[in-house]
Amino acid sequence: MSTTAATPVGSDRSLVDYAKSLDCIHCGLCLRTCPTYQLTGVESSSPRGRIHLMRAVAEGRANADADFAEEMDFCLLCRHCESACPAGVRFGEMMEHTRGALAATRPQSLRTRFLRWLGFRVALPHRFALSLAAAGMRAAQSTGLWPAIARPFAPREAGLEHFPKVPSWAERRALPRSTPARGERVGAVAMLEGCVMPQLYGRVNRATVASLAALGFDVHVPAGQTCCGSLHAHNGDVEGARALAKRTIDAFDGELPLVVNSAGCGSHLRALHHLFEPSDPWHARAAALAKRVRDYSEIAATRIATAQGSAAGALAGPLAYDDPCHLCHGQQIRSQPRVLLDAACRAAGIARVELPDSESCCGSAGIYSVLRPADSQAILDVKLATLARSGARTLVTANPGCQLQWEQGIARAGLDVRVLHVAEVVERAFGAGVSAAAPRPRP
Ligand code: SF4
Ligand code: SF4
Repeated sequence: MSTTAATPVGSDRSLVDYAKSLDCIHCGLCLRTCPTYQLTGVESSSPRGRIHLMRAVAEGRANADADFAEEMDFCLLCRHCESACPAGVRFGEMMEHTRGALAATRPQSLRTRFLRWLGFRVALPHRFALSLAAAGMRAAQSTGLWPAIARPFAPREAGLEHFPKVPSWAERRALPRSTPARGERVGAVAMLEGCVMPQLYGRVNRATVASLAALGFDVHVPAGQTCCGSLHAHNGDVEGARALAKRTIDAFDGELPLVVNSAGCGSHLRALHHLFEPSDPWHARAAALAKRVRDYSEIAATRIATAQGSAAGALAGPLAYDDPCHLCHGQQIRSQPRVLLDAACRAAGIARVELPDSESCCGSAGIYSVLRPADSQAILDVKLATLARSGARTLVTANPGCQLQWEQGIARAGLDVRVLHVAEVVERAFGAGVSAAAPRPRP
């Protein structure tokens, strides 16, 4: 990385959120939490090193060259460093800012631009396009042509043969617009259906609806919703993220809590207003929506004490929970999933074990696992070894990207472990009927 000030290519401060970078006091407490620093041991691949580079670029002491861009791309945006930081450095916001500025100014190959357009502008925002892609992928998988067809669109090292099978149409069909509470009704929620979730993990969405209804909530799935733009924001497409934020705000107009079962989407939606200038009327609407965002576990945990399940045989034990980065670091939610899982384990008569590195990134990180499969797998391999040592036979997460990553890694490692979402565990344990209170007639 060039640090000469002679020809400061891209040294203007628009590339960097300079004010936030000044919060860093260089203490180094974040270093041991950073998965890329653990891989390389190199300071420039650490949070402190990246902030130093950002500052150097902003001050014209370094060039925003290919090496600088590589260190920004190497970061998983897992935000583990934020949890460790005593100075409150908002690393995630800084990195999103820099990636957005780099994407706008960095020359990209025709292939990269085409794939970004295809993914961010054609597929993710349009339910029909995603549905077609999933149907095509399922057909390719069932005829054995999948790796050959997908190879031109994926990095060379991508483990396409371990990609999970796209489920049948029955699982991918849209959720009902409204599902009434069963038994005692305690409230109502709106639910984010997501973009990739319905295509790959429709069963998770159905478990979310079924378990919330069983816990006493009416569940509304408003029309007009699409991708929330989280993947766009994390990967430098700020314009795309803003457009999808506006659609999401319109779709979820109202007062109901917005339940999100994807940690990455929840973390993004809680900070949606940062996409807009304070003077922009969308800023206030985004802030109002952000206040209504609740992770699935936050809502379900309020009712789990009343749940009565008989789940013998429904879950294989021991069960282990792996914290998604955007739940524990992005939203500071750690206890609620464990409350739910402990209740389910009691009902199923199995034990829950803690993974010592449960808060470290699994390497999924949005589309990081597709863009940098070798780094992603190396990061997961460390956690796979911990999982194998734990003896767990069920691994639970709360984010579709993490679920995909774990399923692929566990298949690659040949472990006998089933991967489930928290909502699937709750539904298995308590889906048949939960309220201790007597049912009352529906209004
Ligand atoms: S976000 Fe994650 S990968 Fe990036 S610097 Fe922080 S800890 Fe390291
Ligand atoms: S912990 Fe925070 S203040 Fe300390 S070096 Fe890391 S980012 Fe800077």
